[in-house]
Amino acid sequence: MTERVDVVVVGPGLAGLVATAELVAAGRRVALVDQEPTEHLGGQAWWSFGGLFLVDSPEQRRLRIRDSLDLAWQDWCGSAGWDRLGDGGRPGDGPAPGDGRPPGEDDWGRRWARAYVEWAAGEKRAWLRQRGVRLFPVVGWAERGDGTADGHGNSVPRFHLTWGTGPGLVEPFERAVRDGVAAGLVQLRGRHRVTGLVTGGGAVTGVRCELLAEDPVDRGVSSSRAVVGEVEIEAGAVVVTSGGIGANHELVRRFWPERLGPPPREVVTGVPAHVDGSMLDPLESAGARLVNRDRMWHYVEGLVNHSPVWPGHGIRILPGPSSLWLDATGRRLPAPYLPGFDTLGTLAHLRRTVPEHDHSWFVASRTVLGKEYALSGSEQNPDLTGRSVRQVLGRVTKDVPAPVQAFVDHGADVVEAGTVDELVVRMNALTGAELVDAAQVRRLVEARDRELANGYGKDVQTALVRAARRSLGDRLIRTAPPHRFLDPRHGPLVAVRLRVLTRKTLGGVQTDLASRALDAEGAPVPGLYAAGEVAGFGGGGVHGYRSLEGTFLGGCLFTGRAAGRAAAEATR
Ligand SMILES: Cc1cc2nc3c(=O)[nH]c(=O)nc-3n(C[C@H](O)[C@H](O)[C@H](O)COP(=O)(O)OP(=O)(O)OC[C@H]3O[C@@H](n4cnc5c(N)ncnc54)[C@H](O)[C@@H]3O)c2cc1C
Repeated sequence: MTERVDVVVVGPGLAGLVATAELVAAGRRVALVDQEPTEHLGGQAWWSFGGLFLVDSPEQRRLRIRDSLDLAWQDWCGSAGWDRLGDGGRPGDGPAPGDGRPPGEDDWGRRWARAYVEWAAGEKRAWLRQRGVRLFPVVGWAERGDGTADGHGNSVPRFHLTWGTGPGLVEPFERAVRDGVAAGLVQLRGRHRVTGLVTGGGAVTGVRCELLAEDPVDRGVSSSRAVVGEVEIEAGAVVVTSGGIGANHELVRRFWPERLGPPPREVVTGVPAHVDGSMLDPLESAGARLVNRDRMWHYVEGLVNHSPVWPGHGIRILPGPSSLWLDATGRRLPAPYLPGFDTLGTLAHLRRTVPEHDHSWFVASRTVLGKEYALSGSEQNPDLTGRSVRQVLGRVTKDVPAPVQAFVDHGADVVEAGTVDELVVRMNALTGAELVDAAQVRRLVEARDRELANGYGKDVQTALVRAARRSLGDRLIRTAPPHRFLDPRHGPLVAVRLRVLTRKTLGGVQTDLASRALDAEGAPVPGLYAAGEVAGFGGGGVHGYRSLEGTFLGGCLFTGRAAGRAAAEATR
């Protein structure tokens, strides 16, 4: 059976919801299809922490953080490290659109990046406020960088938390889509798994779907893939917003780059099973060019979730800066591989220096555990997700927040002890091998503690912790006052086994600034648009090699909006 609408949107994650909301505003008839049941809209964004990259915001200014477009652009370029520009890497923009030469893989990502950073320094906050999105007043300092002014990382705190976390960000766009359903403009087509893009006359004219058996699972739980039928939906345009590949470990391994060392044997999964990359082959078959597939953003601070929702469910710790970071054999990681500084640098260091082991360790005090171990995810932050001021204030006064304590009580990765020797016995018991030597860890902890006897000291990490405490946000809820880990008032000692957690896909469909999918020659594939993670958050790689964090949700908003507007215009 073939049906016809103005536009098909594949995937109601954040990018798909934003695109659909734009299409509804323009009066277009949309089929919004998902392989999952449509009771649960919002995809990954619903589970997210809701962290947003903004530049020179009122929240920053209130905390006396002086940010600017120039500084943010310097940080973005230093992190991206674009080296696949069509002009051979000169700082220009690569070939101009339509000049006949195929674009470099980074050409459009770089253009999107400039537009995005300008948006984050300009209209973005007001646009979100207009839709009722509010921000938590304390700005976080994520991805503090590689220790160089023009290299990777945020020079200042820029990680703005949505009040209500991921669900709070999804809410206004879901509302607009459900209003579209009520107005008869949007059909929500759950259990439709797109397996191909239909083409005709050189253009994409619809989608081919398998109908999956009804399976009313809870949000995020893997659903059945039993096929009960097929359908084609015809449309004037197709917008693909199908997300990344983080749950498809086969694809992650296939495209894992050599520069990160050998891939780990075991990882935990930071995304639901629907983040499976199943649209990539159909997109390629329809002529879209996939670029930068070797660029991914995985974390090194993953824990096994004690209450898993999806297969292999892992939770990421967003760490404050104080923990000692040890590799699997108990050696301390060198600067700048400090907690919260350089995600991929640390991953590459660990994979290259200890490839035979997949894990590393944080060693700290209970005070650090309580103050510095934020857990990423809406369900791990019930105070912010539930918008409870009273509970949020509890963060300042509480010993250890309940979600973190649950990992101590029920998790597979946390051990506590009164002495270093006992701690190391428990660390080795956890891995089932005598990998860590107690005398070596005792030496490290005692040496670190001695550095804290006065305000001087030559330990880089201690100096950076002191610097972090100059920021009000850090002082309030992110960075514990410097203290000796062996001081019993801050005890017991804590060790946390950290695993590699798969999360974001940085490459994808190359798109122009209207989110039109481009072919290998750089020409738009008529009728085809891509946005959000499947498009590398813009251009097939807005981040280049590395992210400044909080940039993924924003990339979905920005590219989803562009795709919705352009597809609406094209189907006038
Ligand atoms: C726990 C967690 C915390 C995060 N925290 C942050 C944060 O604080 N800040 C930040 O910027 N980012 C964060 N992220 C990342 C961010 O949430 C995602 O990158 C973003 O939401 C991706 O949105 P999307 O719309 O591109 O795709 P998705 O949300 O993955 O949605 C894709 C949709 O497409 C559907 N689909 C896929 N293939 C098919 C097919 N073949 N047929 C039909 N349907 C299909 C899927 O079922 C899904 O509904 C976090 C992610 C997670 C999981």
